[in-house]
Amino acid sequence: FEEVSSFDPVIAQAMQDELGRQQSHIELIASENFVSKAVMAAMGSPLTNKYAEGYPGKRYYGGCEFVDVVETVAQERARELFGCEYVNVQPHSGAQANMAVFFAMLKPGDTVMGMSLAHGGHLTHGSPVNMSGSYFHVVPYGVTDAGVIDYEEVRRIAHECKPKLIVAGASAYAREIDFKTFREIADEVGAYLMVDMAHIAGLVAAGLHMSPIPYAHVTTTTTHKTLRGPRGGMILSSNEMQEKFNFNKAVFPGIQGGPLMHVIAAKAVCFKEALDPSFKTYMSQTKKNAAKLAEELIKRGFDIVSGGTDNHLMLVDLRPVGVTGKAAEKLLDAANITCNKNAIPNDPEKPFVTSGIRLGAQAVTSRGVVEADMETIAEAIRLVITQDEANTAKAKAMVKELTDKYPLY
Ligand code: PLP
Repeated sequence: FEEVSSFDPVIAQAMQDELGRQQSHIELIASENFVSKAVMAAMGSPLTNKYAEGYPGKRYYGGCEFVDVVETVAQERARELFGCEYVNVQPHSGAQANMAVFFAMLKPGDTVMGMSLAHGGHLTHGSPVNMSGSYFHVVPYGVTDAGVIDYEEVRRIAHECKPKLIVAGASAYAREIDFKTFREIADEVGAYLMVDMAHIAGLVAAGLHMSPIPYAHVTTTTTHKTLRGPRGGMILSSNEMQEKFNFNKAVFPGIQGGPLMHVIAAKAVCFKEALDPSFKTYMSQTKKNAAKLAEELIKRGFDIVSGGTDNHLMLVDLRPVGVTGKAAEKLLDAANITCNKNAIPNDPEKPFVTSGIRLGAQAVTSRGVVEADMETIAEAIRLVITQDEANTAKAKAMVKELTDKYPLY
């Protein structure tokens, strides 16, 4: 901070304020996490100065001998972590990993099946407002009224539309995804299977969710959600698929220029952390904490879509407690609890209002919270939703006690 503040006090102040916000709030956004100081230091390093278009050993710039070490080590660790043959660690984000795969495997107008955004899929899985939805013919699938994927319905749609690519994976789906069945369906209709494991990558790395690697033709991920690394993306596959579709070429020069070597260094550090046995303990506590939060919220009159969670997140249907997602997000913020409004399946409200909130346990678990604390968080949420000033003040005091007990950075 000192270096920034002596030159640029405006930005230094905003950075300081954001640190203070993270320290004083209970972070329940399901796609965020708190990286280690080692990951952060790698990102804020002189590697940011280096242009390294190309891949290790085959660059378009001189002076790449040390960044080659960084990228090679990141690749080796990612392959070990996920048990795959091929990896590309260069995508700047999850969206770009997905775009590169589409660019490599599809031609404009090809048919793609992806989970609809309104049912928990990601924008990049075929939403009309995204490149994926405007350049390709997208046939969406969703969840049942009970909030779960109906694999027979996915099969029926696949047989009907004969997609070239099926995308499995989601941003707001609390149940284990059966990648084996997705692959069977893909094989039946001659489609390729892409799995976007962005949300659950940490659980997969820890062996706590079915791995997509044995089933998917190609897997994409972000590195900053449950995996707890820097903001970024990654593509994993087999050597055979790389030879056939050349994902490397699709990333660079296909959709990106120079890789962010400081971020790739931070990815390498994150993979080393995830290979340590302590990461499994962390992920397993995250799962326990999420399950406990869901259970305690249900006890307090909230509905959880699909009735609970198998992973780090849950979708809370707020209709029984009579507030919208938009209102709940704001009310919770007043008590220093951060989350995001989220549409529930077949949501009667508009996307900017919604009937739900999405909650994840991975960030608070990084601070050290355990199941008993999740009960406190559920009670704080209940108090806030009563929209009573005294209750909100009480919830805020409970949050302060927790954030003091589990300091950040
Ligand atoms: N894929 C999934 C399933 C996601 O949930 C997200 C982000 O939330 C992304 C891709 C996109 O990642 P990014 O924001 O890094 O582009």
